[in-house]
Amino acid sequence: MDEKILHEDELGNLRRSHYSFQISKQNINEEIVIIGWISSKRDHGNVLFVQLRDQFGEMQIVVKKKEVPSELFSTLKNLKEHSSVGIRGVVTEQKNSSDQFEIIPKEIKILSISNKPAPFLTQAISSIGIDTRLDLRAIDLRRNHLQLVFKIRNTILNSIREYFSANHFIEVNTPKMIATATEGGAALFPIFYYDREAFLAQSPQLYKEQLTMAFESVFEIAPIFRAEPSRTNRHLSEAISVDVEKAYVDYRDMMDHLEKLIIHIIWTVNNKNAEDLRALGIELPKINSNFPRITYTDLINKLQANHKFIRWGDDISPKIIKDLFGEEFFFIIDWPASTKPFYVKSITSNDSDESKPLDENKLLSESFDLMFGSLELSSGSTRINKKYLLLENMKKKGLNYKAFDYHLRVFDYAVPPHAGFGLGLERLIMALLKLENIRDATFYPRDIDRLTP
Ligand code: ATP
Ligand code: MG
Repeated sequence: MDEKILHEDELGNLRRSHYSFQISKQNINEEIVIIGWISSKRDHGNVLFVQLRDQFGEMQIVVKKKEVPSELFSTLKNLKEHSSVGIRGVVTEQKNSSDQFEIIPKEIKILSISNKPAPFLTQAISSIGIDTRLDLRAIDLRRNHLQLVFKIRNTILNSIREYFSANHFIEVNTPKMIATATEGGAALFPIFYYDREAFLAQSPQLYKEQLTMAFESVFEIAPIFRAEPSRTNRHLSEAISVDVEKAYVDYRDMMDHLEKLIIHIIWTVNNKNAEDLRALGIELPKINSNFPRITYTDLINKLQANHKFIRWGDDISPKIIKDLFGEEFFFIIDWPASTKPFYVKSITSNDSDESKPLDENKLLSESFDLMFGSLELSSGSTRINKKYLLLENMKKKGLNYKAFDYHLRVFDYAVPPHAGFGLGLERLIMALLKLENIRDATFYPRDIDRLTP
C-alpha cells in the first residue's frame, strides 16, 4: 500500500501567503501558500479531502491521485490528524458553491507530525468526559466549540477594557503574593515567601480600595486564588476576577456601572461574534430594562413560603433560589452585615426610630450580588472609609487586626468614600454562553483534584 516513512521539514523561510479568511474569488487559479494543521480527513481511495485549519478557520484541500505527484498523495494519505503542514497549491471554486474554495496542492512541507491519533475529534463531542479532555487540554482547545468560546472570551475582555477606558477608569495591577488574608483566614493558599509564610491573594480588595486615594477610579483583571474544597461546576481554585473600585460613589452607582458594563459586553459580542454565536447555537440574554433589584429581606420572606427552615441572616444558596428565577440578570441588595466581609459599609439609618439603639443582629449593609438565575456573578458594596469602623468590624469578625496595620494606617490620611465590585469572568462566560461547567470557560482549570496540565 501507500505506507511511507514521513520526515519533518524545517520551517525555514516558508511563510503563508493567505490566511483562510483571505481566500476569495480573486484568488481563483492563483497559486497560494497556506499553513495550518489537519483537522480532519476523508479518504475516498483515489481522492482525499483534507481540512486544514489555521487561526481563523478551515480550508479544504482536494487531493486526486491522478492529478498530484504520487509522493504528495501518499504523504497526505499517511499524515495523521493534528499534524502541521505548509501547502503550495492552486485555488479553485468548490463544485456546488461559488463562494467556497478548495486548494489543489502542488507541494507540501511537513512541519510537525502527530504520532498518535488524538483521543477525541475536533467536532462536537458530548460523550467524552471533561477529565479526559482536560488531561490533553491543548488538543481539546483545538475543538470547534472551545475555539468559539475562547474567541468570544477575547471579545468580552476587550469590551470590558473598552467600557472602563471610556468611563475614565485606569487599569491597575496589585500583588498576588500577600502577607494577610483579605476576608478571614479560610480559603487561602499558603506559600513560602523567602523565610516567611505568605499567601496567594484571594482578591485585590484592600489594594484596590487604597488605590482610589491616588487614582479615584481603578479596575484590575487578574487571577484570584481560593482554596475551595468543594467540587462544584462553578468554583475554580484560580479564577479571573474583574475588580473595580471608585471613589466618591456608593453601591448604587456601582450597580449602575455593572449593569452598563454587562449591556456593553452583550452588545459588543452580538456585534463582533454574530457568526460564532450562530455556530454555537446560542442567543445572548436580551436586556430590555434595568436589572431588577430585590432586597435580601424581601427575598428571604418570599423563600420562607416554601422553605420553612431558612432564616433571615442565612446565606442564600443557588439550590434554594433555582425555582424562583429564570435565566435573567437581577441584583440582591442590602444583605445583612453579618454575611458580608469587614470592609462592607453598614446601613445605619434604616431604622425609622433614630432614638432606638441599632440592633446589631438586624444590621443591613450597602451591598449587592449580581445574579444570573441562580448563579452569582458579582458581589459589590459601599466600603467603610473610617478607620475606627474597620477596627470595630475586624474585632467583631474575630480578625487579627494587628496583621492589617499596613492597610489601616492608610486610613489616617482621609481615604475617600468609595465603592466597588468583583465580577467573576468565568462565571460571566458560563452565564452568557450557557456552559455547564466553569472549567470550560478557562484554559487550564485549577480545582481541588487538578494541578496539571
Ligand atoms: P460563591 O458564593 O459563589 O462561592 P463568593 O461570594 O465567595 O462566591 P466573592 O468573594 O463575592 O465570591 O467574589 C466575587 C465574584 O468572584 C463572585 O461573584 C464570583 O463571580 C467570582 N468568584 C469567587 N470565587 C470564585 C471561584 N472559586 N471560582 C470562580 N469564580 C469565583
Ligand atoms: Mg459573593
